[in-house]
Amino acid sequence: MDDFSDRIIDWQRRHGRHTLPWQNTHDPYRIWLSEIMLQQTQVATVIPYYERFLQRFPTIVDLARAPEEDVMALWAGLGYYSRARNLHACARRVDTEWNGRFPPDAAAIAELPGIGRSTAAAIAAFAYGERSPILDGNVKRVFARYFGIEGDPTKRPVEMRMWALAETHLPPPGPDAADAMRSYTQGLMDLGATLCTRGNPDCGVCPVRAGCVALREARQHELPTPRERKAVPERRTGMLVIEKAGEILLQRRPSPGIWGGLWSLPEFPGDDAAAACLTLGVTAAAAARLPTFSHGFTHFKLHIEPWHVQAGALALRDDGVPQIWLPAGELEGAALPAPVKKLLQGLFRRGELL
Ligand code: SF4
Repeated sequence: MDDFSDRIIDWQRRHGRHTLPWQNTHDPYRIWLSEIMLQQTQVATVIPYYERFLQRFPTIVDLARAPEEDVMALWAGLGYYSRARNLHACARRVDTEWNGRFPPDAAAIAELPGIGRSTAAAIAAFAYGERSPILDGNVKRVFARYFGIEGDPTKRPVEMRMWALAETHLPPPGPDAADAMRSYTQGLMDLGATLCTRGNPDCGVCPVRAGCVALREARQHELPTPRERKAVPERRTGMLVIEKAGEILLQRRPSPGIWGGLWSLPEFPGDDAAAACLTLGVTAAAAARLPTFSHGFTHFKLHIEPWHVQAGALALRDDGVPQIWLPAGELEGAALPAPVKKLLQGLFRRGELL
């Protein structure tokens, strides 16, 4: 028996999480949806999105056949929008190539859009009890500490070493392997999320403390080896909050790309908001600069310089970019990037719009 997996399984069954909305099901659709939403996002943030998604799209076929607009609207606010586009593309592939049923093993699941090796393994473990290892960010942290692995876990050689350990320490095959795999996979996730946390690991109650190299050598705060920090590039953009008769002008962002498929404010590169309006076919009756704010993306930081424009004459140009006038009352449910929605909500709340 593998002491590591045994301890994780036993701990998960007694102390792990059992009541999350995506647990206690073997439905790969529900499991997949939760796994994608949970990437880079906290459980508490995901739960309401997950429930709204399932209400609107009870099956993967419902999701596959929905307009992209509806999918993006439900995703708006969760961030990392390529996940939503891949989610939709994946549902369509399952609908057309797999007759609406999820592929039957991790290798085939990993061929679908937006699903990496670890996510495919998690889906196959929870749905089918397949013996396939996971290695997400939390598990890498646990492994780096428990096995005392030096080096940046995002680098290929370190990652390959971890994958090899992940394979070696799976629960053994046998009649109980499917149940064991479910508990073990969930246990690794729970351990990383609740005990072996980044800042303050709770080693005193950890089920694998007896064999943990980091604990033995008091190196929990050195492992995993931090990633080399590179300076984050910065960009700036002007945004136009063009207001006309109680409505705001929005344009659809090109997809793929940052905020692709979402509705957002027209952008312009310089400082001349009135001239930028004219290129859209809007004559500004008044333009006022609003406070600059910043939004962090994975690879750069965006400084947004918004302008509030009262539209005078309108002769909107059709340059192929879809645009709409959004009434204030529809702001809440609209598929807008989170910082843009926050900007508009703040302006409405303070009575600076309409
Ligand atoms: S003993 Fe501490 S550092 Fe080691 S795996 Fe457990 S929580 Fe993490």
